[in-house]
Amino acid sequence: DQHNWDDFCAMLGEIETISDRSQVAKLSQDYYHFSPILKPLLQDKTGDIVVLPRSESEVLKVAKLCVDYQIPLTVRGAGTGNYGQCVPLKGGVILDMSKMNNIVWIKPGCACVEPGVKLAALDKKTREIGWELRMFPSTYRTATIGGFIGGGSGGIGSITYGQLRDNGNLHAVRVVTLEAEPRIIELRGDAVQNINHAYGTNGIITQLEIPLAPVYPWVELIVTFNEFMNAAKFGQALSQSDGMIKKLVSICAAPIPSYFIPFREMIPSGEQAALLMVAETSLEPLQELIKNFQGKICYQKSTQETVKGTTIIEFTWNHTTLHARSIDPSLTYLQTLFPADPELKLIQECYDYFGDEVIQHLEFLRTGGNLHPAGLPIVRFTNEARLNEIIQYHEDRGAIIFNPHTYILEDGGMKKVDLQQLNFKRKYDPLGLLNPGKMRGWVDNG
Ligand code: FAD
Repeated sequence: DQHNWDDFCAMLGEIETISDRSQVAKLSQDYYHFSPILKPLLQDKTGDIVVLPRSESEVLKVAKLCVDYQIPLTVRGAGTGNYGQCVPLKGGVILDMSKMNNIVWIKPGCACVEPGVKLAALDKKTREIGWELRMFPSTYRTATIGGFIGGGSGGIGSITYGQLRDNGNLHAVRVVTLEAEPRIIELRGDAVQNINHAYGTNGIITQLEIPLAPVYPWVELIVTFNEFMNAAKFGQALSQSDGMIKKLVSICAAPIPSYFIPFREMIPSGEQAALLMVAETSLEPLQELIKNFQGKICYQKSTQETVKGTTIIEFTWNHTTLHARSIDPSLTYLQTLFPADPELKLIQECYDYFGDEVIQHLEFLRTGGNLHPAGLPIVRFTNEARLNEIIQYHEDRGAIIFNPHTYILEDGGMKKVDLQQLNFKRKYDPLGLLNPGKMRGWVDNG
């Protein structure tokens, strides 16, 4: 009860807390409402108190109190996750990491940071010495690096550098444990996979070493096409052009471009659009490729010109869904990974079969060393049974669905328990206090 929380705050001493009910409720939410399935399940979930540590030693103190009093602890970055990753299912402490936002050091090729640093702020700093983030989500202006590692997968840059779980994209982390005596452990090399994309279920990340990429002068472009499959095949051809330096290859079927308010005057109605970022030096070969696929450039700006204003980045990845939903809130989405295929047969089949019910949106990326079209199609939602049929249709034909309509870690990912992450939880969070209810392996086996 409230009395106990007052005592808890007193024990935290100087550490900043928020106990105002409406603020706590707000800081218990993320963007799960993109899913009509998750919305009713999560909208009433709230923590009891928000704690905002400023240092690793403050995190240790909170961890110790949570262990001593067996209080659930859910870590939060900026709360931009899409599946309720940071929504507390069992109340307790929301550990908001946004005040731990120091950049510890930056050297050529690598940065060491606290988890609460916002991705855009970090990118800006590393650019000062000629390096940039290898990849970031379209929420880079608000999202934190800790939350991206804890709950994200990849994004702008993944066309070249793969996804976060690909080997070498996270060098090291410091983690606070929830053992009887919480302590700090350092994970390097393969060991980082213990906590990478674990939804904060098995440790609190307090510092990260992130590899960087050399900066290029980027150009943002929108190219339009009459035919969707021409746009998709153009996307694949550009993605396969290893000599062209690129950061983003995003393909949207009509009517998606009409949802992009700042751009829709430029995109003829009924056209498909490719949203691209390529290095300035790749513009000439790109123009030739565009011509080969009967595309037309309708928008072109350098990154310097877009840095403060509208950027196409915020119309790609799951921002595409956001813009679609701002026009029609009944729309939702799926996450697919199509098999590598020179002819894109399954994409064509889905495009023809579903028509306007599943509107194709592709993001080309590398993963496990291979190029794949990933999909974030916009879905006209009718009911859960139909949504499951759509998922089944894709799976029966060899696409992988990363289901965004579940808050369970394994069900959204590869559908199997990650034993390494589960064993890590057994050792370092033996009471199961971290983000309870999210890891199926733990819920099933204890
Ligand atoms: P949060 O949502 O706060 O947390 C995410 C998870 O990480 C939670 O489980 C939390 O418990 C855990 N966590 C946070 N901090 C820590 C820590 N210090 N230690 C341990 N665990 C921690 N994602 C992509 O990957 N690519 C995209 O392109 C993309 N586009 C998006 C577009 C929109 C419009 C929206 C709404 C979301 C998008 N996302 C995308 C999802 C999300 O924005 C990103 O994954 C983002 O990086 C999450 O960061 P955050 O700080 O908001 O994390």
